[in-house]
Amino acid sequence: MLRSASLRVTRPRVAVLKAAHELPHSDTESLIGAARDDLGEVSHQAVYDVLRALTGAGLLRRIQPSGAVARYEARVGDNHHHVVCRSCGTIADVDCATGHAPCLTASNDSGFAIDEAEVIYWGTCPQCSIDQSSTAQIS
Ligand SMILES: [Zn+2]
Ligand SMILES: [Zn+2]
Repeated sequence: MLRSASLRVTRPRVAVLKAAHELPHSDTESLIGAARDDLGEVSHQAVYDVLRALTGAGLLRRIQPSGAVARYEARVGDNHHHVVCRSCGTIADVDCATGHAPCLTASNDSGFAIDEAEVIYWGTCPQCSIDQSSTAQIS
């Protein structure tokens, strides 16, 4: 993947890319942890640099729901969307609403040629729904 994006293959790049495949929607801290498990000591700055290079090359996608830290994923180029739990911040993938980009028609395109829509659905994840209903029953 790195070679196809004309990026030099380095151990930190391989480690971060592997971690992003294994742990979709990871934040920087989790990716640093995974890279350290793989490589031993690696600096925050090195991982930040790798994330910037991989995102810039289109190998990783960066998502940042409002009020949350940035997350990274290796599922790129398919214009999928995300659903975020308001309670615990868990993120899951949502496939394109109509199968191809942009899957939403803007009610007013202001003359723009629109080629992509990025949607964040907000809600409560299954685990938090269970927790909330059990708390409600106790009280
Ligand atoms: Zn949740
Ligand atoms: Zn995703």
